[in-house]
Amino acid sequence: MAETHAEDILPDISDRDQDTVASKPKPPANTSEHDVVIVGGSLAGCATAILLGRAGARVALLEKSPDADAFKRICSHYIQSSAIGTLERLGLLEPMMQAGAVRSRVRLWTRAGWVEPPRVSIVPSGVNLRRSRLDPLIRELAASTAGVELMLGYSAQELLREDGRVCGVQAHGQGGETIQLHARLVVGADGRGSRMAKLAGVTRKTAPHGRIAYGGYYEGPQPQGAPASTLWIMDPDMVAAFPTDSGYTFYAAMPTKDRLPEFRSDPQAALERFVAGVPDAPPIAKSRLLQPVQGKVDMTNVLHRPIADGFALVGDAAGALDPLWGVGCGFALQSAEWLADSVAPALSGAEPLEDGLKRYRRHHARGLGGHTRTILDYATGRKMNMGERMLFSAASYDERTGRVFEAFGSRNIGPVRMLAQGVPLAMLATARRSISRRSRSRSGTTAVAA
Ligand SMILES: Cc1cc2nc3c(=O)[nH]c(=O)nc-3n(C[C@H](O)[C@H](O)[C@H](O)COP(=O)(O)OP(=O)(O)OC[C@H]3O[C@@H](n4cnc5c(N)ncnc54)[C@H](O)[C@@H]3O)c2cc1C
Repeated sequence: MAETHAEDILPDISDRDQDTVASKPKPPANTSEHDVVIVGGSLAGCATAILLGRAGARVALLEKSPDADAFKRICSHYIQSSAIGTLERLGLLEPMMQAGAVRSRVRLWTRAGWVEPPRVSIVPSGVNLRRSRLDPLIRELAASTAGVELMLGYSAQELLREDGRVCGVQAHGQGGETIQLHARLVVGADGRGSRMAKLAGVTRKTAPHGRIAYGGYYEGPQPQGAPASTLWIMDPDMVAAFPTDSGYTFYAAMPTKDRLPEFRSDPQAALERFVAGVPDAPPIAKSRLLQPVQGKVDMTNVLHRPIADGFALVGDAAGALDPLWGVGCGFALQSAEWLADSVAPALSGAEPLEDGLKRYRRHHARGLGGHTRTILDYATGRKMNMGERMLFSAASYDERTGRVFEAFGSRNIGPVRMLAQGVPLAMLATARRSISRRSRSRSGTTAVAA
């Protein structure tokens, strides 16, 4: 499949604030030695740097934006509960809560009815904080970690190699200077469309994405169920409401691509029409848009082999998946943790680096493989199949299935474990219920609600 690059549209700004001019960082000597060079100072890069710095490594963390407060602009930032342990370990959850973060479960509407968060949950709540607050927080934590040198305004351009093995990075500074950083391990945390992955020549796979995403922050009455986040799976379209800090709500629509013309011609009107049209609609009509609605049109799923000789990828650089299920931030943090834990022994000299990298690749595949397959399968923009409809239906009325389903949807367990927890039996019961309803309705004995 041809390579496709993500295109941000309306308004025409990039993910990073290009205009912000920060005080110029001090140029370092034009070559230096570290244990690890990390390219990309967002969630995945900062988390990797913090954990490796704490493990005793000397880390250079390169971020092309010169602004310590830069943040990813196109993101609805619902962080799944699977990443709560990582946030706690980083020491970030508490500062996030102080910055106004909202702990939030998910309620879902499908044609089978509402799937409310279970009364007794077996997983922690997810968390929601605007990226304009989250990104500076984690970058500040990285910069203050012993052993981590945050280098703002440096854009990595080339990988350095020795006998074919990656051994460093060449980067350009804001003033046009070129620096070379040598290290035993180079980490690409440079997001979707990773240049580092391309330069490393790792295997790349893409899978189609059939939807567009538009969203904006609104101030106004809270949606029903807040602080829970709500998803309306209109099948194949999707609408979401994410209550977040400061009492704001991020409303998003992810319709299939054939709806692009109406969103392009008036994004705000199209978003508000879409959100207001769902069952039990949230109060978007009584709310005020805070900033222009943002959209993303191309969200082709991109997967890279996460390791090469002297090299690893974390976060979106390793796998940029359909944002419909809100997994990217959590997976960025979790993959960072898996990499740091896997290579720390090698960096302290206890084993060859190759062993640590292989361990990371196995952990990455085990942790995300099942989720990735199910996410790619629905990303095409197709409608739900019979099995999926039965699953949602079973979760909507059976408390136990609802609990297991929440553990899966919040990415705490994979699809195999979910199915092993007796969920197929509940799905079977759903099928029986629906068949007996239908036959009762045909024989005219009962009026059947839709
Ligand atoms: C529409 C949309 C909605 C989303 N909603 C959610 C959601 O609700 N929940 C969720 O969990 N995820 C969501 N995501 C996904 C989430 O935004 C990403 O998965 C997450 O930001 C990935 O983090 P990262 O650190 O891997 O990459 P990024 O956050 O993309 O960071 C990459 C960093 O690398 C830097 N960089 C790039 N190239 C270079 C270079 N050459 N040199 C130096 N620095 C470089 C960039 O400036 C940037 O700081 C959404 C995505 C989209 C598109």
